[in-house]
Amino acid sequence: MGFYRLSLSLGLMLACIAGAVWAAPQPLISEIRVGKHDDHTRFVIDVSQKIDFNVFTLADPYRVVIDFPEVGWRIDPAAAKSAVGLMKGYRYGLYRPGRSRMVVDLSGPATLANKFLLPPEGQRQYRLVLDLVPADRTTYLKTAGWPDAAALDTPSVLEDPPIADPAVEKPRNVKRVVVIDPGHGGVDPGATGVSGILEKDLVLSVGTALRDALEATGKYKVVMTRDTDIFLSLKARVAAGRRARADLFISLHADSAPGSRARGASVYTLSEKASDREAEALARAENQSDVIAGVDLTNESDIVTSILIDLAQRETKNSSVKFAQALVPELQHAGGVTQRSHRFAGFWVLKAPDVPSVLIELGYLSSDHDESEMRTRRWRANMSSAISRAVDSYFKQSRLEHKAEAGD
Ligand SMILES: [Zn+2]
Repeated sequence: MGFYRLSLSLGLMLACIAGAVWAAPQPLISEIRVGKHDDHTRFVIDVSQKIDFNVFTLADPYRVVIDFPEVGWRIDPAAAKSAVGLMKGYRYGLYRPGRSRMVVDLSGPATLANKFLLPPEGQRQYRLVLDLVPADRTTYLKTAGWPDAAALDTPSVLEDPPIADPAVEKPRNVKRVVVIDPGHGGVDPGATGVSGILEKDLVLSVGTALRDALEATGKYKVVMTRDTDIFLSLKARVAAGRRARADLFISLHADSAPGSRARGASVYTLSEKASDREAEALARAENQSDVIAGVDLTNESDIVTSILIDLAQRETKNSSVKFAQALVPELQHAGGVTQRSHRFAGFWVLKAPDVPSVLIELGYLSSDHDESEMRTRRWRANMSSAISRAVDSYFKQSRLEHKAEAGD
C-alpha cells in the first residue's frame, strides 16, 4: 500500500514535470503589417506557430473580427492607431480565457477576398494573410454577421438572481460587499493617454489598489469584476455585481476629451435623461464597449420585469446619489474634480436595479497634467484611499439613517 501510494505520487510528479516540459508554448504575434495596394488592402500577421483562426465581418460600424486561441502580443501598440487603406485601426487582446481577439475597424464596406496561413519560409515565421477589397453595403451585409460558433462562444453570463427587496437590511455583523469594476480590458483598450498609456491598464491598477485599501480596513468583502487584462461584456459586469449581492458597485474609468484642457475626476450615476450633453456623449462612448469587442448582442433582453424593480430602483438610485455625494469631496481633496463633479447619464454598466452603482472617471487621459499624475504610484494611492474613505462614510451614513428609521 505504502509503495503503491509512493509510486502513484511519483507517477503524478513525473506526469507534472513531463506536462511542464512538453506543454506547447503560447503562440506569439510579433508583428502586424498593413499594406495598401491598387485594388486591395493586405493584412499580414506574423505568428510564431501554426494556429487556428476564425474571421468574420460585422456591420455598423464596419469591422473585421479575427479570433485565435489565446496568444501573446509583442507588437507596437502605436501602429494599431494609424489608418492604412481600408483599415482605420485595430484593437487586440484577450476576449475570454483561452481566446484572443483582434478587431479591425474599416473605413467602409469591404469583402474578405483572401484569408490564408502561410508556412514559415527562410527567416519568416507563420503569416496569417487577409486581403480586403472595397465593396458596396448590400454586398457587405450579405456576408456580415456572427458565425454560429462565435455566437455560441459569447462570454457566458450566469442566470441573474431575483431582484432584492430594498426594505430588507443586512444584519450588522455581515461584511458589506463592494464590487470594483475596472472598465474595458482585453480587446477593448478604452481611451489612450497622451503618452500612450491605456485606460484598461490604468483602471485595473487603481482597482487593485482600491481593493487592497478596502480589504485593509477589515470591514468589506471585495469582489473584482476583472483582475487581469481580459474583456468583459457590460452585461457580465452588471451580473457580477448582482450575483455578489453587492452593497456598492464602483466602475472605474478615465476620460478623454478633444483638446487637453479638461482636467479632474467626475462621478456619474444612472439616469435615463443625461445631466448635460457631454455626459450623454460619454455614456454613449462607454456603452460602445461590447460593440468595440465584437460581442453578439442580437439576443440580448433586458432584466425581467418584476413588481420589486420600481421600488428597488428608486431606493438604489437614492443610494447611488448618496455615495456619489460622499465621493466628490474626497476626490476633490485627492486630486481635483471637474466643475460639474457629479453628473448623470444612461450608462449601461450602472443598470442593476438593486445595486447602488457609480461610475468614476478618474481624470482625463487627454490632459498632459492629469496623465502625468496618473502614471505615478502616489496618485493611484491617493485616489484609492480617497474612494475607500468615501465608501466608509457612505456606509456610516446609511447605518445612521437606518437607525433613525428604526427609532433606536
Ligand atoms: Zn472608459
